[in-house]
Amino acid sequence: MSEFEPGVATVVGDTQVPVNRILGRNPGPMTGPGTNSYLIGSNRLCLLDPGPKDEAQFESFISAIGDRQLEFILLTHAHGDHSPGAARLKEATGAKLVGLPVPQSTGQDKNFSPDGEWKDNDVVDCDEYRVRLIHTPGHVSNHICYFLEEEQMLFTGDHVLQGTTSVILPPDGNMGDYLDALRRLQTMDIRYFAPGHGGLMEDPQGELESLIAHRLRREAKVIAGLEKLGSCDVSVLVIDVYDDVAKHLIPWAKKTLLAHLIKLQRDGRVVLLNDCWELV
Ligand SMILES: [Zn+2]
Repeated sequence: MSEFEPGVATVVGDTQVPVNRILGRNPGPMTGPGTNSYLIGSNRLCLLDPGPKDEAQFESFISAIGDRQLEFILLTHAHGDHSPGAARLKEATGAKLVGLPVPQSTGQDKNFSPDGEWKDNDVVDCDEYRVRLIHTPGHVSNHICYFLEEEQMLFTGDHVLQGTTSVILPPDGNMGDYLDALRRLQTMDIRYFAPGHGGLMEDPQGELESLIAHRLRREAKVIAGLEKLGSCDVSVLVIDVYDDVAKHLIPWAKKTLLAHLIKLQRDGRVVLLNDCWELV
């Protein structure tokens, strides 16, 4: 398990621009082995997703940075397992925070605020390498993946995870946007996915294909469920559509089911009448 030792900078991928993963000290059911932070570059550095507030982890970052310059802290989004460690690191290094502002009424860190205004396709330029912002809404509306252009490595945050699938929580999370953002990645030439949780992924296109297929299979099950049950509410429908899911995960499945229904509503396939969903 030395590859997944918390706090230890570990080289990932076969790249010219050095990329080190520093695993967080926060393993758990929602975070897998913990949150991956990534330190990018040789001299002018970026650190992606510092994770939760954690003094020991902060010390690990400082020792990995050494006497070099941390120029930017890149945030994929501001969930508690990704961004709160940024403030302390910024204070200590003077690095600029990159990311999209947190929308109202989401479960994200309200204290997070980027330095300057960033948008899709903007480039963080460190001379020795460039990192492009790829807006990938779905998990949350302000989610960003970062593309290390020289190495065709995409840091996927919670948009693509290794060994599990993203949670899509409406109303800020959006299944239609999520699928659109996955399809956008299919048009890019990507060599590696470096996810927010789990190990490096070396077959991005295969991964995208199976992720999209997985969601569309579930969508087909939603439609089949409504055909069978007629008009019904989410708590009835969930039992049919997620018959393959462990009981304790049903509350999460309900939220994802709602995300599917909202997407199907957007596509004109279902309607909501008196709290019950039915096919058009
Ligand atoms: Zn998240």
